[in-house]
Amino acid sequence: MGFNIAVDGPSGAGKSTIAKAVAKELGFIYVDTGAMYRALALYVLNNHIPSGDEAAVGRAIENVSVTIQYENGVQQVLLNGENVTGLLRQEEVGKMASAIGAYGKVREKLLGLQRELAASNDVIMDGRDIGTNVLVDAPLKIYLTASVDARAMRRYNELMERGEDDTLENVKAGIAKRDYDDTHRALAPLRQAEDAVYLDTSDMDIPQVIRAIINLYHERRTSAWK
Ligand code: C5P
Repeated sequence: MGFNIAVDGPSGAGKSTIAKAVAKELGFIYVDTGAMYRALALYVLNNHIPSGDEAAVGRAIENVSVTIQYENGVQQVLLNGENVTGLLRQEEVGKMASAIGAYGKVREKLLGLQRELAASNDVIMDGRDIGTNVLVDAPLKIYLTASVDARAMRRYNELMERGEDDTLENVKAGIAKRDYDDTHRALAPLRQAEDAVYLDTSDMDIPQVIRAIINLYHERRTSAWK
């Protein structure tokens, strides 16, 4: 059984940047569960499945395979055997992932894969329901968040660096909508697990957040051995 670190939080809180860096430092595997939802979303988009029709989405994904591989420590997502990792970060795919992530059939399909990875490896896994649902016994859970303004500004800067065209107002509205949808859905909504450590990174830089999590890891690891 591996040591599991669960990281949950809203969009744009920096979960993947932080979790990747922590994984590298600790020699853990980083599992990005959002990418799994995004892979199914890509399938729904490519096959023009009406995303508002829960039964149609459930039927469509029944025989679709999502698998994970690691290349030089970097997670690769295969959709029906094809590596789609490079296609998953588009805004449209994220929105669709959020829409279909509300469906039970979609969540059930990915839950087994997530638990299998955590059972056989030391992992830091990020998502929305990792501490509350996927890895409820994880010895370290983090709820990573930041104000909507801070998250919108970070996302906006990222988009500008990539040469994309958007306004800060628009980015902020998108984040607020995703927050609302992810926290208000009936199944596995985003919320802080009771035993999770709350980390508000609005006024922290990346190295500070990484250090805080590594310190928590060492504390937990030591107390687990006592
Ligand atoms: O984290 P990321 O932005 O890649 O996730 C995309 C969407 O997938 C989220 O907005 C959320 O609705 C969904 N998701 C989820 N549960 C997870 C990970 C992601 O519902 N564990």
